[in-house]
Amino acid sequence: MIFRKGNPSRVDANLAIGGASIPRFGVHRFLGVLLDCGLGGGQHLKYLVDKGRGIADIVAVLSSVTWGSHPGLLLTIYRAVFRSAVEYGSQFFVWRPTNADFVRLQRLQYRIIRRAMGYHISTPINVMLAEAKEHNFSNRLEYIASKFIYKTMASKFSPVYSSLEEMEVVAVRKNRKAEAIKASRLFRHYVLTRHEEKIVYRSTYPPAFWHTYEVSSTGIAFIQRMRGCDKNNTNLIKVDFYHKSFSYRQGTVSFYTDGSKSLDEAVGAAVYSPEMRAPSNTDYRPKHRSLRALSNSNSIQRNYLIYFIKQAYIDVTKRGTEITLFWVPAHCGIPGNEIADQCAKRAALGVCRPHFQVSHVDLQILSKTAAVRRQEDYMKRISVCAGKGTRYYELYHTPSMRTWFHEETLSGNEIVLINRTKANHVNTQESLHRIGIVNSSACPCGDSRQTVNHLIFHCVTYNKDSLPIRKYIENKFPDSPQDILPALSSPSPRLCRLILTFMKANDLFF
Ligand SMILES: [Zn+2]
Repeated sequence: MIFRKGNPSRVDANLAIGGASIPRFGVHRFLGVLLDCGLGGGQHLKYLVDKGRGIADIVAVLSSVTWGSHPGLLLTIYRAVFRSAVEYGSQFFVWRPTNADFVRLQRLQYRIIRRAMGYHISTPINVMLAEAKEHNFSNRLEYIASKFIYKTMASKFSPVYSSLEEMEVVAVRKNRKAEAIKASRLFRHYVLTRHEEKIVYRSTYPPAFWHTYEVSSTGIAFIQRMRGCDKNNTNLIKVDFYHKSFSYRQGTVSFYTDGSKSLDEAVGAAVYSPEMRAPSNTDYRPKHRSLRALSNSNSIQRNYLIYFIKQAYIDVTKRGTEITLFWVPAHCGIPGNEIADQCAKRAALGVCRPHFQVSHVDLQILSKTAAVRRQEDYMKRISVCAGKGTRYYELYHTPSMRTWFHEETLSGNEIVLINRTKANHVNTQESLHRIGIVNSSACPCGDSRQTVNHLIFHCVTYNKDSLPIRKYIENKFPDSPQDILPALSSPSPRLCRLILTFMKANDLFF
């Protein structure tokens, strides 16, 4: 295969080894990515569309409304099987948004999400994405490229990163550089993030392999007796903490640690010890996540600090000092922790910059923040300016990264029903009339608009059956006793059950 910009078939090159001629190929599959001779990624995109189609068919079978799988499970299948397969290797290519195959791939993504969440075909795409907490495909590609750059930056001998550096050297003239930025997504993200190179921790090989087996196999357990406490009752928490930590604090030196983030995203951290009476700044952050990482002895940690802490822990324990890690909830009035929190806030605002190198894992959070911001902009643009799913945006849209049903034990039917009602694309005359399926939006009872609210609160035909829902709404939402919509932003399992029963009893499934 000959790589060449333009038409490679014009290059005349015949290779022969020992008299046998070597055939030439236009496409070759390498590590699961289809490379074509122009490196445009067209072949790879076609392959992704084919693969995606198969997965979309499987999800379509699994998502039947009457017996199908749970929407939460279907979303997991989408992420694990479709999204991961489609995104693998795609950061190396730049496809035009108007490219027919690219559009096909995007449509497949929408189709699978629509099936998983049980939406009707008329539901706006932005509503589906917002409800499934998924980003659109172009945004995902940017996110993956940005994360990938941080990862390569962390490796001192990354061939990818050094080629990008070389590319920058070669593209001397301004218009050449602009061209490179336009043609390569990775180069663009390299230019955007290379200033972080000063603060990122760069190593020659993954941190998990620097230390002895003892370090990597050590798990530091932490005391979890404060887990599940009621964060709203601060007085009780204080008492609870003094009681539960009493035996651990006897004759010991205690340290409280906390981290803080200022508005301009500067981060500070502090350690406070009541026994030593002098607050000092340090780089250790006692988030529950870090404690979990420390206690884990099985999987490989990508953050080099975890191994540093484990090494220090082993060194200190060998000298005979005993260390106990005790998790406490933040911002609950536990005195030592409050002081540490204030010190951390001051550190975040201050000008003191320690010589501390950040793990690339922490910098990847910036990629996530940028992706979320782009998606929010997209949502706003489509909902407010283009007028699609405006009602959903005003009533229900939240920046939360979890679906509304992730903590509830609801049946698939209930979730699909609420999803459709929230999107306002349902089997009512008004909704069907809006998209031109029926001629009139009137209800057989005589009312001019058959909406969900009409069926539940006003329709004489279903007056008797809808009584439990009306009573429930009147009780829980006295401000809007004749409107079901505000109640759906985080519906209780009871409300979901009531609506489903009402629909089933009257053959009204939305
Ligand atoms: Zn009616």
